[in-house]
Formats: sequence, structure tokens, C-alpha cells
Amino acid sequence: MSATIIDGKAFAARVRENVAARVRELRNTQGITPGLAVILVGEDPASEVYVRNKAKFTVEVGMESFEFRLPAATTQDALLAKVRALNANPAVHGILVQLPLPKHIDENAVIDAIAPEKDVDGFHIVNRGKLATGQDALVPCTPLGCWMMLKDTLGDLTGLHALVIGRSNIVGKPMAQLLLNSSCTVTVAHSKTRDIAALGRQADILVAAVGKPKMVKGEWIKPGATVIDVGINRTDAGLVGDVDFDSAKTVAGAITPVPGGVGPMTIACLLANTLKAVHMQHKLDFAPIL
Ligand code: NDP
Repeated sequence: MSATIIDGKAFAARVRENVAARVRELRNTQGITPGLAVILVGEDPASEVYVRNKAKFTVEVGMESFEFRLPAATTQDALLAKVRALNANPAVHGILVQLPLPKHIDENAVIDAIAPEKDVDGFHIVNRGKLATGQDALVPCTPLGCWMMLKDTLGDLTGLHALVIGRSNIVGKPMAQLLLNSSCTVTVAHSKTRDIAALGRQADILVAAVGKPKMVKGEWIKPGATVIDVGINRTDAGLVGDVDFDSAKTVAGAITPVPGGVGPMTIACLLANTLKAVHMQHKLDFAPIL
């Protein structure tokens, strides 16, 4: 048996097409052009690439892209003032502060300064609290993309047993909450968990968000399970995920590759979140993307 490969690149393209069509409709019916502002502090090369890609896709779907590149020495007060100015700017519907920030700046203080309805990364405590209590929220982009791929692959997730490996605030925890809100039975594993392999063998859905190359082996996976590999690990052999793809694909029913799985969905979900943010700010009904 060989698993179906979940093509994240193609799925992300479909999400972006859908967002683009809805952006056109918004402009025609409401006269609104969604705007996404990205702030980059300092010159981290990986962040530079992310910010460039975000701006490219923002423009491609017909949104307005605002980019702010601030020097590494920017003070926390100056950054907070920038965020507040963007909160007050009606042309800006989404604000993203690229992380990590230089060490002299408190990331939580900056995230909490973003207006929750413009927090398209879903990192503000209000959005985190809403997700945790099952209310409508702006949800962090990477787990949102994983959840959309799971829905697309499996349909109704009710009653399925999901194992999420990793409990970070950016991926593991919001992933577990999304699955719980979809009525899955959720197990969250982390570095102190005993016998993850045995938990894996009971799981209909396995999401790996660890940061350890090829940690999840084929024998950890329940036959026919759907496996989502969030990991991005740079090794001498190139980019690999947290799942040992070669052994996993002989057992799983469906699996995301690395690269070309979860990665491309993250920016697509950022655009979807920006569209949702526009609807929240203008009190318009928002139908889910796909
Ligand atoms: P973090 O380092 O913040 O969290 C890793 C989690 O894995 C922690 O909860 C940690 O447990 C757990 N963990 C570490 N070692 C083990 C182990 N041996 N067994 C079980 N659990 C373990 O990482 P992130 O959540 O930010 O990212 C996870 C991966 O996803 C990374 O490879 C990252 O590059 C990738 N990523 C990909 C994105 C994309 O767009 N595709 C976006 C974001 C991340 P504990 O809490 O106990 O320390």
C-alpha cells in the first residue's frame, strides 16, 4: 500500500484563487480593498524571504501590501507606536509583525498591542482565548492550513482520534484546539510523553510539529491514518520533515510531503485570515474559504 500524497502546493493555489475571487467581489460590491501590513525589524535572512513571499502573494490576490522594514536597533516604544498607527489606519485590515524580534523587544507586548480584529497571525491573547473556548477567532495560519487539509482529505472529523506531537503556542496547542472544536478525541504529546509510538498506533490523524528530522517512523502509524508533517528541518540531505516519509507512506492512508505539504498553506491561510479580518471589521458575514 502507498499513501495518497496530500498536495499542499496545489491546495494552497486553490485557496489563493478563492481568496482572489472574494477580493474582487468585495471591491465590486463594497468598494473595499483588503490591506495587509507586514513589519520586519532587523535583517534576519529567513525572515526577509518570508516577508518577500508574503508581499508577493498579497499583491497577487488583489490585496494591498504595506511593508515596513525597521532597523534592528528600533526601540520597543517605536515599534509599539508603529503598530498603534496601523491599528488606526482603515486601509490596513491585517497586521503581522514578523517573528523573531530582536532580543531587546518583548514579543508578547508587541503582539498584544495589535488590535485583535487585525491580528491575522492569530497570536493575540484574545484570539487564543476565543479559539480555546470554541468561539470564532483569527486562528494561527500553520495549524489552520493543517486543519483545512484534514477537512479536505477526510470530510467530517467527528469522533476521530488525533495525536498532535508538539505543544508550542504557534502550532501544537492551536492545532489541538482546532481538532477538539471539530469533535476529535485529541491527545497532545511532547518531549516528556512516554511511548509516543503506542499513542501513534491508535491515532486516525497524526500531526507532527516537533522540529526533529524523521522522528515519526512508519511503525508509529496506524494503518490508513492521515499524517500531517509540519516539521521543516534543514539537514545535509536537504529539507526533511518530522516524519520519516519513506516508511510512513507505506502505512498511512494519506500524508503531506516536505517540502510541498504544510509549508505553502501557511501564506495562503494568512491571506484567508486577512479576508476574514476585513469581514469582521466591516461586520459582513464571512463564509469559510473552501
Ligand atoms: P517548538 O520548538 O516551539 O516546539 C516543539 C515541540 O515539540 C515542543 O512542544 C516540544 O516539547 C516537542 N518535542 C521536542 N522534542 C520532542 C520529542 N523528542 N518527542 C516529542 N515531542 C518533542 O517548534 P514549533 O511548534 O514552532 O515548530 C515545530 C516544527 O514545525 C519545526 O520543525 C518548525 O520549523 C516547523 N514549522 C513549520 C511551519 C510551516 O509553515 N510549515 C510553521 C511553524 C513551524 P516540549 O514542549 O516538552 O519542549
